[in-house]
Amino acid sequence: MDKSDRHLTVCLDMRGCPNRCRHCWLGDLPNRKIEEGYDEFVVESFKRHFPNLTFYSWLREPDYCPDYKQRWIKDNALSPVKPERFELASFYKIARDEEYVNWLKKVGTKKVQLTFFGLERTTDDFIGRKGAYKELLKATKALQGHGIEPRWQIFLYQTNKQEAVALLDIARKMGVKDIFVHEGSCDGNNRKLYDIRIDKNGIPEPLSPYYLNYPALLSEKECIAKLKDDETPYVPHNEADITLYITSDLNVYFNFTNPSPAWRIGNIEADGIDLIAEKALNEDILALRIAKTIPMKELVRRYGDANSDKVFSLDDYKMYLLNNYLNERE
Ligand code: SF4
Repeated sequence: MDKSDRHLTVCLDMRGCPNRCRHCWLGDLPNRKIEEGYDEFVVESFKRHFPNLTFYSWLREPDYCPDYKQRWIKDNALSPVKPERFELASFYKIARDEEYVNWLKKVGTKKVQLTFFGLERTTDDFIGRKGAYKELLKATKALQGHGIEPRWQIFLYQTNKQEAVALLDIARKMGVKDIFVHEGSCDGNNRKLYDIRIDKNGIPEPLSPYYLNYPALLSEKECIAKLKDDETPYVPHNEADITLYITSDLNVYFNFTNPSPAWRIGNIEADGIDLIAEKALNEDILALRIAKTIPMKELVRRYGDANSDKVFSLDDYKMYLLNNYLNERE
């Protein structure tokens, strides 16, 4: 394959994540340590095809490794196009390591997003770790103490909506101003929570000013009304940039949806990076080949629930329907 001038981002899950969130769109990936040096091999191999490359040594919790300072320096050194910090950090580490918060400030972090699911018991249960809620509150104070703004993200379900309202009060008392509420996509582990997905008419009024894209929210039945006569297939594709996620078992995926067999581009050990790079550029994977064969109206007919008031964005709903079809074929 010739060199491509497109920008490629490669995220390699070198250390995993301390949490086991019930909504995680990446599903239940195992924590496996990737050997030092494998990052260089991955980057050098992809760079032969994509010289404009950015490398991240994490896919899930950022900085979740003992040597996060050296890691950030190395990610930069490996990347011809420098990595960004985003508004993400490890709340596990923020709550335990003051030096980490100092360092976040030094590398220019202005804001860090923290995720809640309700009050203590519910948040601990959804994150999969006792103590997670207390850590989030501690992290909020630690960030504020270092001049970094915390942003609270609240995932909303039918089962936690009153607790979500109570969280607004707690946020106010703690001086948290940046808050947003949403339903999340319906893939990975969040797909298993379809039955408790928030109803459009069930969103408590005090949450509406904080709800992401509230005026444009659709219920499942409204999505169906828009798609039931749509004869085109839903085929997600990359725009100018391509992002690849590499899980700790060295399977490679686009960032379109959850990692599942149909969405796998290839495995580094079994297929080699040259073939994976070519497939990534040509978007040549089983899920996309199948996606092209079925129109939206047929996916709606097979999997849509025209009585459902559950909230979706239109693209999330299309992906939910497509994954139904792919799962059935698997
Ligand atoms: S949602 Fe994020 S923090 Fe939670 S398990 Fe998934 S990767 Fe980890």
